[in-house]
Amino acid sequence: MNTAPPPNWHERAAALRIDGRIVIDGQRQAAATGETFDNLSPIDGRSLGPVARGREADVNAAVKSARAAFEDGRWAGKPPAVRKKILQRFADKILAAKDELALLETLDMGKPIQYSLAVDVPSTARCIAWYAEAVDKVYDEIAPTAANSLALITREPMGVIGVIVPWNYPMIMASWKLGPALAAGNSVVLKPSEKSPLTALRLAELAVEAGIPPGVFNVVPGYGAEAGEALALHMDVDAIGFTGSTRTGRRMLEYAGRSNLKRVYNELGGKSAVLLFPDYGNLKGAARAIAGSMFFNQGESCNAPSRVLVHESIAERFVELVAAEAPKYAPADPLDAGTVMGAVVDTTQLTTVLGYIEAGRSEGARVVTGGRQARLESGGCYVEPTVFDGVDNEMKIAREEIFGPVLSVIRFSTEAEAVALANSSAYGLQASVWSDNLSRAHRVARALRAGTVHVNQYDGDDMTVPFGGFKQSGNGRDKSLHAFDKYTELKTTWLRIDAEAP
Ligand code: NAD
Repeated sequence: MNTAPPPNWHERAAALRIDGRIVIDGQRQAAATGETFDNLSPIDGRSLGPVARGREADVNAAVKSARAAFEDGRWAGKPPAVRKKILQRFADKILAAKDELALLETLDMGKPIQYSLAVDVPSTARCIAWYAEAVDKVYDEIAPTAANSLALITREPMGVIGVIVPWNYPMIMASWKLGPALAAGNSVVLKPSEKSPLTALRLAELAVEAGIPPGVFNVVPGYGAEAGEALALHMDVDAIGFTGSTRTGRRMLEYAGRSNLKRVYNELGGKSAVLLFPDYGNLKGAARAIAGSMFFNQGESCNAPSRVLVHESIAERFVELVAAEAPKYAPADPLDAGTVMGAVVDTTQLTTVLGYIEAGRSEGARVVTGGRQARLESGGCYVEPTVFDGVDNEMKIAREEIFGPVLSVIRFSTEAEAVALANSSAYGLQASVWSDNLSRAHRVARALRAGTVHVNQYDGDDMTVPFGGFKQSGNGRDKSLHAFDKYTELKTTWLRIDAEAP
């Protein structure tokens, strides 16, 4: 019987040693200028300590180290089965450091500790392990050419991959790029968000401990307009794996155009629609599932189901049901083991979310529940889970990504209208259809312009399937074997085969 008391995360947080320095060539180091920035926790506004403010000189050093590692073959030259073993060890190290990584993630960006432990750390390890497992099972091709030749189609690692990620799932987003990029033999320079740099820096140390050669995986923290821009403009970076806002994604394409035409893979924002039809039998279950997906991670999920299109005949009942679910997600201290909603990432995001709630009100939508800042006494950044009714698809809160715990209910009267409303968005990340009519579910799923469509659920998710969006939600696909396409070049090699022996 396990009689150990449950961990006290406050005590552990107080005892944690945090190192915000850059990792290049497997070594911790200060920024070239010696500058740092103060890393504040959204839990209570307190400082977590200084983080190196990486700039162009640091990015140049990291790319130089990554290039040298790539060129001498210390990683790319290893047989796939060897890279597999080392990456599996990396995944094991991540799991072994579960408590520390979970605590860093929660302190840095405010999500509940129970989810950092149960979701973020294991998902990160699983992603690395999945690509490790895959890499010695992916075969190249021989083309069906004429008998006088042999044409081989092979995949080669690209070289140096720049990875730039956001703060909402810092480790998971990084792992979606690191897994396929490292497994394929590339070197990586990772620029985490300035709002959540801590776990990325620890990952780089664990990678070296696992046997990934120094220089293969470097991490330069810093601001987007400084370290991020330097990486995306770098002439010796072959591709950028980017996850973040559509605004910054646009910049990534410009940087590539202004520099070396590096490949740019953008995983961007969303304004995902749920289409709820009256022939779906379990409205209460739907309300519970939709609220669960919307309010998970404080609503800071690119695929959050933030536009709920409901048939007018069931809209009133749905609003009652979803409004009854929302208070179950009342924000609380992220370091308490039972907390289900934590802090939004910082005061800027807090102001943005509250500004959207104000915009919804002033455009005539009705707040059914929530709508205010919460836990002001904590000194942190908390928002009540909020449901708007009477939303029009043209309102700002229906068109723009809020990235906070705000759900909008929009009514429709016909299936065609529902599809048109769902597709009337600059984004196309995910969608979901709720109907017990099989033909309708298929018909509507086919008509929706989104990278993933769920039917009668919202949380389908697995490493085996691609994740990414249509339209301004991006162009790349993370996860699944398809992600290897992003970090490998296809090469054709022609060999002549003489018909006669000499
Ligand atoms: P952001 O675009 O502000 O920042 C993302 C990253 O880009 C950060 O590391 C930031 O420092 C860097 N950056 C910012 N400006 C830059 C610049 N001028 N040059 C180079 N780098 C720059 O986004 P965010 O606020 O950190 O993240 C939220 C966004 O991420 C949301 O739009 C969300 O939908 C999106 N997201 C998408 C997915 C997906 O898979 N499609 C997943 C998670 C998050």
